[in-house]
Formats: sequence, structure tokens, C-alpha cells
Amino acid sequence: MKTFEKIADLQSNLRIRLEAKARIGFVPTMGTLHQGHLSLIEIARQQSDVVVASIFVNPLQFNDKKDFQKYPRQLENDLQLLKNVNCDIVFIPDVSEMYPKPPEEFYDFGQLERVMEGAFRPGHFNGVAIVVKKLFDIVKPQLAFFGEKDFQQLLIIKELILKEKMPIKIVGCPIIRENDGLAMSSRNLRLSIQNREQAPLLYQLLIQAKMMLLKGASIEETKSFVDEKIKQNINFKLEYFEIANATTLTPVNVISQTSNIRAFIAAFLGEIRLIDNIEIV
Ligand code: AMP
Repeated sequence: MKTFEKIADLQSNLRIRLEAKARIGFVPTMGTLHQGHLSLIEIARQQSDVVVASIFVNPLQFNDKKDFQKYPRQLENDLQLLKNVNCDIVFIPDVSEMYPKPPEEFYDFGQLERVMEGAFRPGHFNGVAIVVKKLFDIVKPQLAFFGEKDFQQLLIIKELILKEKMPIKIVGCPIIRENDGLAMSSRNLRLSIQNREQAPLLYQLLIQAKMMLLKGASIEETKSFVDEKIKQNINFKLEYFEIANATTLTPVNVISQTSNIRAFIAAFLGEIRLIDNIEIV
């Protein structure tokens, strides 16, 4: 496995592989890797000749400075994990390599960025779009792999590709969970022992909401059920629970069997913000 910190060094290695017509699969990450990230590498491994991962904690996508500073970083361990899953190349730029001058792009993703994460984290998706566009321009992959854990982000990236007319296939990959159902996340490491025990509540509520909806409960009934359950636990603070169309993210008013609907949740548990989502129908 090769690691590169400089764009020019990475590109001279990739050039040779592109000339040999290799299919390049790319997995962007912010490091502190877990099985969720590694599952993306494994899927990329099956579909690509060369697998490139990046580790870059992108300051632009943190609307909260403290969250950026406290974001966990474990580079040595990450490199070992990537080696174990046969990643070929790791790109580890620093901030000045990625942004020699402050980026000025401004993206408008319409409805996709006005709800949920976009509404609660102003500027977040613009920061995500800027870094992903830049990484795509550097790596020039044919395929790029993103987790459904960040479902709204996955839709934004698909839209980015259309807007920028980039010839890249975006592959969405399933959410990987701990045994108790908690969606894996680098931020889980920052949960206190007590809060870690409470954390699976979010997934349990998503499952219970799904069952209620499939048995005919209304959206309103389901939302107030989730709201109540969260309120019963003083360590949680709900940011949103939404039931929306899985392509447009427009909130839905009724569930019909033919529709393409997902439920989304975000809550603070102590200081740590957790998100999760589930397919409804
Ligand atoms: P991050 O390092 O948080 O920016 O995540 C990098 C990529 O890994 C993104 O495409 C995430 O959606 C994906 N990812 C993070 N956690 C999980 C998970 N539990 N299951 C599947 N994919 C994940």
C-alpha cells in the first residue's frame, strides 16, 4: 500500500495506472476508520482495479469549530486497517495542500440541502461538495463509494456529479452497525460509557417507527411517539425525525406501499451528535 501527502506525487502514480486503463475506485474518509469505512473499501475492491482511499478531516464541512478540533484522529491505526483490507493507495493531504487559498465556490442543491442536515448544519454541504469535487478532480476515479449512513450526503454527491458533469459512478453502500444496532461512526468513540449504552435507542426508534407506519399509523402519530420516547431520556436532545421521499427528501404526508420512503433521525447524546436512517418502503 502506498501513501501520498502531495497531490503531484499521487497523480504521477495514478497516471501510470490510468494509462494502463485501470478502473480506479475511490473512498473518501475523514479517518478514525471503523468497519463502516472498511466495508466501503471492500465493496470498492470488488468493483475496481485500483482502490484509493483518502483521509482528510475537512475543516470546511464543520459548522462547529469545537467539533472540528475534537474530531478523533488515529492515522497509524487507520493505515494498518487499510492495509489489512488491501487498499492500494491512501491520500493524506494536509489543509494547505488541499486549500492553498480559501475556496470560494458556492453550491446550491435546492431542496436536498434545505432540510435535515442542511437545515441544522448551515454551510455543511457546501463544505462537503467543495472537498469532494476537489478530491474527484485530483483522483479522477471512475467509481466512488459513499455510505448510506450519511444518506443526505450521498444524494448531494449524486447531484454534484450531475451539476459538474463528472463521469463518475457513485455507489451507495449499506449502513454497518454495532451488534446492539448503533450505526458505526468515528464520533461514537467520544461517547461516555453511560451514553454509549443509551445510544442504540436511535436505531430502536427507527425500527419501531417503521413498524408503526407499516401497520397504518399516521406520520403525525409516529413523529409524536418518537418525540416522546426521546424526551423520556434526558441525555438525548432530538434535532429532527423526518419521514421523506428517498430521492427528493421532500417530507411525505402518507405512506403508500409503492413509494420510496426513508426515516431520518438526528440527536445530540450529551455533546455528541448522532445521525441514522432506515428504509421504510
Ligand atoms: P466519514 O469518515 O465520516 O466522512 O465517512 C466516510 C464515508 O464512510 C462516508 O461515505 C460515510 O457515509 C461512510 N460511513 C461512515 N459510517 C458508516 C457506516 N456505519 N456504515 C456505512 N458507511 C459508513
